[in-house]
Amino acid sequence: MKIYVSLMSVLLITLSLIGCSGEKRSPLETSIYNADNDKIGTATFTEQPEGVQIKLKVEGLEQGMHGVAIHEFPKCEAPEFKSAGNHFNPLSKEHGLMNPQGAHAGDLPNVEADPSGMIDVKLMLPEAKLKEDQMSLLRKEGTSIVIQSGPDDGMSQPAGNSGERVACGKITLDADQDETSDPTEPDKKQKKN
Ligand SMILES: [Zn+2]
Repeated sequence: MKIYVSLMSVLLITLSLIGCSGEKRSPLETSIYNADNDKIGTATFTEQPEGVQIKLKVEGLEQGMHGVAIHEFPKCEAPEFKSAGNHFNPLSKEHGLMNPQGAHAGDLPNVEADPSGMIDVKLMLPEAKLKEDQMSLLRKEGTSIVIQSGPDDGMSQPAGNSGERVACGKITLDADQDETSDPTEPDKKQKKN
């Protein structure tokens, strides 16, 4: 009987620990929106021993090479997505995977859209994490993933001379609650007493 009781308490403690951690950090799926605020795809982030894997599936882009990077703020305000800020760079390095003083932790290789405008690739962010860490994509409020109109040259400051920002997805723990999907919603409902 004693054994059952202690087994039960171990089970309960385990369950409550799982309950406390609550938030599901990996895999984490985010929606990606274009400049018209239409959802054009998803990015799925999975923590792995060697970094964070990103499964990027997007359509409706122009055929050809596009720069893509993790940006420092989880804000995707169309059409310019300037709200996403600069590249995710907690180690204060320079931009570019080909730069000897680089790269930003958020820098990724270029991705290619096929003739139908679709991207379906797996990428790896070798230094990043999803769990709590200085290198976590979810630190503070989170970050974002941004796709550019043209290819990143891997060298030019501050962001590889890759043209306009054409698509953006927020990387946050509450990414399911999409404010962007309902642009007519008033900013904040305030109760007046
Ligand atoms: Zn960069």
